[in-house]
Amino acid sequence: MVPYDSEVTYQLRDLNGWRFPGTSLAVLGFPVRHSISPAMHNAAIADLAAKDSQFSEWRYFRFEVEPEKLPQALPRFFEMGFFGLNLTVPHKEIAFDLIASIDSAAVEIGAVNTLKRGPDGYHGYNTDGCGLSKGIEEELSASLAGSDIAILGAGGAARAAAVQALQSDCQSLCIVNRSADRLENLLGSLQPIAREKGIPVKGFSPQDTSLEFADHTLIINATSLGLNSSDPLPIPEERLPQTAALYDMVYNPRTTKLMKTVSDRGGRSANGLSMLVYQGVRALEIWSDRKIDPKNMKQAANSALASKA
Ligand code: NDP
Repeated sequence: MVPYDSEVTYQLRDLNGWRFPGTSLAVLGFPVRHSISPAMHNAAIADLAAKDSQFSEWRYFRFEVEPEKLPQALPRFFEMGFFGLNLTVPHKEIAFDLIASIDSAAVEIGAVNTLKRGPDGYHGYNTDGCGLSKGIEEELSASLAGSDIAILGAGGAARAAAVQALQSDCQSLCIVNRSADRLENLLGSLQPIAREKGIPVKGFSPQDTSLEFADHTLIINATSLGLNSSDPLPIPEERLPQTAALYDMVYNPRTTKLMKTVSDRGGRSANGLSMLVYQGVRALEIWSDRKIDPKNMKQAANSALASKA
C-alpha cells in the first residue's frame, strides 16, 4: 500500500487493505489526475479541524475509477468505510442507479455529484446547481431568479444548471445544443417542472438562424468548448447580445475565447472556478454538518490552478 497522501492519484486496487485511521473522503473520476478537489477540501478540512478536533483526522483523496468499474467500486468504498464521495466526469449520471437513496433535487437533475454514507449505503446529492447559483451571484452580481437564461450545452452540467434555473424561478430558459437528440431529451425532462412553474423553455441548435437572445440574457456555457485554445465558440459571435453576462463553467484556462468575445463586446464574464468552489463548500457542509467558510477552498483552488499553469 502506498502511503496515505492526498497528492497521490489512487487506483481501485489500492482499496485492498485501505486502513487509513481517520475519516476518508474521496473524489472518483476518469480521468481524475487534474482534479483540484483534494487541495480544496483538505484546506477547508484543516480550517474546520483548527476549530473542532473531531475533524482533525478527516482527509480527502483522489481515485481513478473507470466508468465500467463504478458498480463494483461503490460497494468497495462503502465496505472500506469511506464517509463521503464526490463524483466527477463520467460518473455523475451512472451512479444515479447505483446508490441507496437520492435527494429530491438530485432526482430532478438525474445525476449525483456528492454521496454521504448512510446505514445501508450512500445517499446522493447534487451540489452543482447550488455552486452555479452562488458563483453567478458572487462573480456577476446576477441572479438566476427573474433572469432570461440561455444555457449552451445539454450534458450533465447543463442539466444541473437548467433544473437550478427553473427551481430558482428564472424568467425564461433557452437551451442551445449541437446534437438534437440530447437537446430533445433534456427539453423533455424539463417539461414537468417548467409547466408547473409556467416558465417558457425553448431549444435551438447553435446554427439555427432564428436563434436570438434578448439583451441582458444571462448566458451559461455548459459545453466543454473552451477547454482548448483551438476550440471554436459554442455559438456564432453574431448571435451574442451586446449586453450579455456570461458565466463560463470552464475554469482552466481562466479566460476562454467565449469570455474574451463577450468582454470585447462590452458584456461581463466570469469563469467556472467559483462554481467548483461552491459545489465543494456545499458537499463539505453536507458531510460535516457545519457551515464552511469558502475562503480556504478559494485560496487552495487558486494556488492549485496556478501550480498547474
Ligand atoms: P458532458 O460531456 O456531459 O457534456 C458536454 C457538452 O458539451 C454537450 O452539450 C456537448 O454537446 C457539448 N460539446 C462537446 N464538444 C462539443 C463540440 N465540439 N461542439 C459543440 N458542442 C460540444 O460534460 P459536462 O456536462 O459534465 O461538462 C460540461 C463542461 O462543464 C465541461 O467543460 C466541464 O469541465 C464543465 N463543468 C464545470 C463545473 C464547475 O464546477 N465549474 C462542474 C461541472 C462541469 P453534444 O450533446 O452535441 O455532444
